[in-house]
Amino acid sequence: MAAAIKIEGLRKTYAGQGASAPKEALKGVDLEIPQGSIFGLLGPNGAGKSTMINILAGLVTKTSGSVNIWGFDQDVNPRQSRAAIGVMPQELNLDPFFTPRAALEVQAGLYGVPKADRRSDEILELVGLTDKAEAYARTLSGGMRRRLLLAKALVHHPQILVLDEPTAGVDIELRQMLWRNVRKLNEERGMTIILTTHYLEEAQEMCDEIAIINHGEVVVRDRTEVLLDRLDAKTLVIVPEAEVGEVSLPKGVEMVRRLHGELAFSYARSNTSAEAVLQAVHAAGISIRDVRTEEADLEDVFVSLTSSKA
Ligand code: ADP
Ligand code: MG
Repeated sequence: MAAAIKIEGLRKTYAGQGASAPKEALKGVDLEIPQGSIFGLLGPNGAGKSTMINILAGLVTKTSGSVNIWGFDQDVNPRQSRAAIGVMPQELNLDPFFTPRAALEVQAGLYGVPKADRRSDEILELVGLTDKAEAYARTLSGGMRRRLLLAKALVHHPQILVLDEPTAGVDIELRQMLWRNVRKLNEERGMTIILTTHYLEEAQEMCDEIAIINHGEVVVRDRTEVLLDRLDAKTLVIVPEAEVGEVSLPKGVEMVRRLHGELAFSYARSNTSAEAVLQAVHAAGISIRDVRTEEADLEDVFVSLTSSKA
């Protein structure tokens, strides 16, 4: 499948302000995001998510590397690559004197959308701002401003929609509205969605694929179900009475020898039972002094992946 976005060797170092040292926010990121997916960029605060998004949006200048959006290299075809992407930023940066309808018209003008192709009313309806179409932005609640930011990201009919921490600090109703709309845009229009979040659950629920980013590096990237399969991984650790030779194991079980003669048997809970592992241990004539189990959840996967580079 063709890539919606292809990033290679992307680096960003922010110049230090005053006495502060320069900050290397992205340390050579390679990432390919398939067309039509809902892709999650997951990582703790300060990981570099917004930096990456803002480079895609053309709001931050990269230090080096290449960014290709919908087949257009950002440096070679800046206009086309920008036209393919709509970004709902993390910051609420709205002009307080524009009404939602006026803000959408201005945005459409900036992107050169012809009058006949403008869909302001439809977009306001989609985000639930029809009633507020003529209200000044400064009179809108925080939730309504976020809806307007989403609307602005959609005016030029981009193939790719990027949402930077769309649900950080928003109420349940807005969160549900956002997810409904995101799913709808993805399913009905085939829009590629990229969202950043530091909520595991959210990424798990919404995304087909997830990249985990930490300290400016992608530490893992896989289909959500593959990442979740890691949760299926279980390890049975046995402390034997005496040294152990060869062990013949059931299919799907792997044995690793650890310190102090411990044996760690890993298997997938979905197709092997602890009982089957223990039977193999008995069959090998091993007598067990102690036994314990280890299992991961996504939180553990996340923590182990992100803390190793701290
Ligand atoms: P995230 O969105 O994952 O929380 P950011 O991309 O906002 O991460 O930030 C990554 C790192 O770059 C952080 O250490 C942050 O302090 C730093 N940073 C972000 N923007 C700037 C800036 N304009 N100037 C200097 N440092 C910045
Ligand atoms: Mg951010």
